Amino acid sequence: MRAARFHGEGRITIEDAPDPAPGPEEVTLRVAACALCGSDLRPLRRGWPCTPGHEIAGRVNQPGHPRHGERAVAYIPVFCGRCDACARGRTHLCENSRELLGWQRPGGYAEAVSVPERCLLPIPDDVPDHLAPLLLDTIGTTAHGLRLARRLVESGPALVLGAGPIGLGAILVLRRMGFGPICVVEPTAYRATFAASLGAAPITPDAASSGRYAVVVEATGKDAARQVAFEAVGPEGVILQLGESDAWALTETRSIRLKDFFLLRSFYFPIGDHAANVELLRADLADYARLVDDRAGLDGLETLFAAFARGERLKPILVP
Ligand SMILES: [Zn+2]
Ligand SMILES: [Zn+2]
Repeated sequence: MRAARFHGEGRITIEDAPDPAPGPEEVTLRVAACALCGSDLRPLRRGWPCTPGHEIAGRVNQPGHPRHGERAVAYIPVFCGRCDACARGRTHLCENSRELLGWQRPGGYAEAVSVPERCLLPIPDDVPDHLAPLLLDTIGTTAHGLRLARRLVESGPALVLGAGPIGLGAILVLRRMGFGPICVVEPTAYRATFAASLGAAPITPDAASSGRYAVVVEATGKDAARQVAFEAVGPEGVILQLGESDAWALTETRSIRLKDFFLLRSFYFPIGDHAANVELLRADLADYARLVDDRAGLDGLETLFAAFARGERLKPILVP
C-alpha cells in the first residue's frame, strides 16, 4: 500500500509500505478520509518515525471478520478495557495505554491502517465519510472539555483563543450548549471571518484581556494566548486548556492574582461520549460541513499541509 512519510521541515513523501498486519483483536481499516490536525504540524516540522494521521474514518477490510465492511472512525488511545479507568468508562485515561494511533503506531495518512477492534466507533449511515473524522478531535475533544467545564459554570459569555479546527469546534459546541455571547481572537483573516459566520465576534487580544468570561477556551498552545486566557477568565470562570506545547511561560499580573478561577486541561474523550458526539454533529451538520474546505489525495498531501500550516484551510482532509 501507499503511505506518507514525514521527513521534517514540511517535507512529505509517499512511499510503498507493507500492508497493515493486524495483530490479535485488530482489523485492517481501509482509510476513506483522514483529517489534518494542528497537532500534526509538530511531525511536519520535526519528522516522525511512523506514518502520522489520527483523525481516521474508513471501512473495515477484513474478509471473514464479523465487522468486515463496517464504516468506523478510529478512537486513537489503544486502551486495555480492564483497568480501573477503563472500568469507569475513562478509556482516554487508561492506565495501560502506551500507544496512540498516528503517534506511536502508524496512522491514517495511508491507504490502510490496522486498528484494535475496540477502537472502532461506528459511523451512522447519515454521516458521510468526509465529515466522520470531525467526530474525533473537532467535536470529541472540545465537547469532552466543555462537558467538564459545565460542571463548574453552566452558562455565560465565552472566549475562544484561536480559530483553528479545535477553536472552531469549540465555538460550535459552546453555541449548542447555550454559552454566549462568544468572542474569538484569531489573527488569520480567513479563519476569523469563518468564526464570525458561526456567530462568534472577532476581537483583539487587548479587548479580550479586559473581559470577564465564564469560559475561556485556549486552542493555540501559544504563550501569548495563554496569557490572555489567564487575564480574561472571569471570577469563578474556567480556562479550558486544549492547546499544546512543550513549555509554558506566563507573567503573573495583578488581574491574574486577584481572582478565583479554574484551570481545566482535558485530553481527548471517553469512548462512551461517541453517541452524544454524533448528536452534536447532526445538530449542526451544515456548519460542520463548511469546516471541511479542501481535500487531496496522497500525492497532494504535502501541498495541502503547507496551505493548512499557513492558516489558509480550516479542516482539510486526505482522501487516499
Ligand atoms: Zn488531532
Ligand atoms: Zn485501561
